[in-house]
Amino acid sequence: MKIGFVGLGHMGGPMCRNIIQHSNLEVSIFDLSPDAVQACVDVGGKASASLAELAANSDVIMTSLPMPRDVEAVTLGPGGIAENAKSGTIYIDLSTNSPMVIKKVAAELEKKGITTIDAPVSGGAIGAEKRTIAIMVGGDKTTYDKCMPIFESFGANISHLGDLGSGCIAKIVNNMIAFSTMAAAAEGIMLGAAAGIDPEALNQVIRTSSGNSMSYRGVAYKTLNGDWSPTFALDLAYKDMHLALELADELAIPLQVSPQVHNLMRMAKGMGFGGDDATAIMRVYEETLNRKVRKKS
Ligand code: NAD
Repeated sequence: MKIGFVGLGHMGGPMCRNIIQHSNLEVSIFDLSPDAVQACVDVGGKASASLAELAANSDVIMTSLPMPRDVEAVTLGPGGIAENAKSGTIYIDLSTNSPMVIKKVAAELEKKGITTIDAPVSGGAIGAEKRTIAIMVGGDKTTYDKCMPIFESFGANISHLGDLGSGCIAKIVNNMIAFSTMAAAAEGIMLGAAAGIDPEALNQVIRTSSGNSMSYRGVAYKTLNGDWSPTFALDLAYKDMHLALELADELAIPLQVSPQVHNLMRMAKGMGFGGDDATAIMRVYEETLNRKVRKKS
């Protein structure tokens, strides 16, 4: 089975390298960034000259791309998967994508005999490196079973959630919860610091108390170190929150907290922090209050 992997960024890079290193499969790769390609070539990946070449020569094509529009471009656009992949190819989208977009893409690919499953992942760049990421799959169960050796080569906690789009729905709901927790963490850390508690001492307490979570620890670490370099960009988090709101709109489900967090993200983007880490929502509080919360150097 030949794999083609497109999108070798913070998530796709380590996931692809793990497939190369922990399966016996031949892996062709394509990305717009030469550095991202080189990092996978260094461990045995085969660079494709074009997306079209990769699509034509793969039995399973995987994508890990930023936005739904990028997935549409790579699948349905000129020189893309629909135009070049052979009938019988399996297409797996690992991106956090819109359930509506993946269904539209799948319907077009189906016309060419290509089967699509959605398989977004959770656990961050560290989880991707360590092969501990959760993989949430939607789509045909037989195709899911066939792809299990690939999933096992780069992830853990692999679940089949139902029809096509179910993986995206689970992922969007997960992120809606995670980002709401991040916003609460940012507010809490700022409130504690403004009230005079040493932020490092407060952090130690929360890490062993009921306020602790992966999202909390992410905000605390980034804030105390003043390090907003992205492992998960705010722009991508904003996209995920937008997808959650869009889904709630479609189903007429009231949301109280998430729209506020989405607005906070809008403020952060407006202040120029879209390329920073998602935890940079904290910077909205820091800039507004003219107060930075850092550990003692
Ligand atoms: P990223 O921006 O780090 O990487 C995206 C890669 O795709 C880049 O290397 C870029 O050059 C490449 N790319 C973009 N358009 C392309 C095209 N047309 N052809 C080929 N390559 C193209 O993004 P990321 O953080 O790795 O996120 C990827 C997906 O995974 C997103 O949907 C994101 O929401 C999701 N996700 C991210 C995280 C995280 O912690 N970063 C966690 C879970 C899920």
